[in-house]
Amino acid sequence: MTKVEEKSFEQRVWSLSDEHRKRSGTKDFRVFQAPGRVNLLGEHTDYSGGFCMPAALNFNTLVAANPRSDTLLRMYSLDFKHAAEFDLKNLQPQGKEEWSSYPAGVAWSLGQRGVKVGGADLTFSGNVPLGAGLSSSASIEVATATALLALADAEMPQPRVALACQKAENDFVGAPCGIMDQFISACGVKDNALAIDTRALTLELAPIPADLRLVVCNSMVQHSVGDGKYGARRKEVEEAAKAVARKLGKDEATYQLRDATLQDLFAAKDDMSHEAFLRGRHVITDSERVHLGVAALRTGDARVFGALMADAHASFRDDFAASCDRCDLLVRLAMSLEGCLGSRLTGGGFGGCTVSLVETAKAETFAKALAHRYREATNVDPAVFVCKIADGAGPVELE
Ligand code: ADP
Ligand code: MG
Repeated sequence: MTKVEEKSFEQRVWSLSDEHRKRSGTKDFRVFQAPGRVNLLGEHTDYSGGFCMPAALNFNTLVAANPRSDTLLRMYSLDFKHAAEFDLKNLQPQGKEEWSSYPAGVAWSLGQRGVKVGGADLTFSGNVPLGAGLSSSASIEVATATALLALADAEMPQPRVALACQKAENDFVGAPCGIMDQFISACGVKDNALAIDTRALTLELAPIPADLRLVVCNSMVQHSVGDGKYGARRKEVEEAAKAVARKLGKDEATYQLRDATLQDLFAAKDDMSHEAFLRGRHVITDSERVHLGVAALRTGDARVFGALMADAHASFRDDFAASCDRCDLLVRLAMSLEGCLGSRLTGGGFGGCTVSLVETAKAETFAKALAHRYREATNVDPAVFVCKIADGAGPVELE
């Protein structure tokens, strides 16, 4: 059960409920939430079956939902101030990216998995910054799935919920994302990062000590999974995997870099482009950093964890070529401030947010100083958030 701690959260639930009551004409509805996330280690590793280490944040998408007696999905987003309607009888992948494609895609995908999805009124309200790399898309998907499953009185293990949502984003919306975002939004655990094996779909808890905070800073450089660069990196990673597979005599069609060592990659270096080699090196080393990171957090060695975050940024910037000048600047500024143990660009890359690990006692001062220095250098006001690590998706109960 999702516990409500913050007044602002309550206010959001109340305004959502008011709007939903007006739109649906019923008082008989329920509210669900699913969080956005920040990734600490293991970036672009999930489509290679590798490891990653995200944490669910206290930013989420709320959805108010009630069943309808017909087959219509009537949806409204408070954030977009826009309504959309679909008939479940003819839901088809549409390949165009509108906000309503995400929840409609989830209804379609759950249907494909045999869930008897019924008509529903759905009203959404989110506070995950859109397109900033904190995965508002997974949060709206997982919130929708949680609501539709509850309305259908259907049970589904959380990793399967995540898979259904990923399918919605891949095949209905047409965005080539991996499983990490949906998995953490569905399975997140308060005060913990999760080390996720994205092939086995299993997780290990990695506790973040109470005297440390995650500080997320939005560079305000917009990224988009759909703009081609994400897809280009995926192709280069696939090229590296195929070359390693050929060298090792494995099946090119199914081989994943998850199974490669650095030695395997070096052995196949001449059979791939230089770019593919660098991308592959990032995937293999960043997956390895997740294992080292779990060990560091489990033994309470936060300094080692911070150093791993810094290494991860260097790898993402130099080998994966997925950073940008302003994000590099943000990371440098963060690392120069007191109380910061590590900082890196998080998410798909090419803009979006950085995440820094900061001593709790210094986190507010750090956040102000980081915003100030970034503004001085760029004339751009960044949004900075001192975050809490939240639970994954669930029903919302106001006390
Ligand atoms: P990210 O996941 O990094 O935030 P994406 O481009 O993957 O960025 O997904 C953002 C899109 O998700 C938005 O443009 C919108 O279509 C959809 N979305 C997310 N939250 C909401 C919301 N509260 N209401 C409507 N659409 C939303
Ligand atoms: Mg997204």
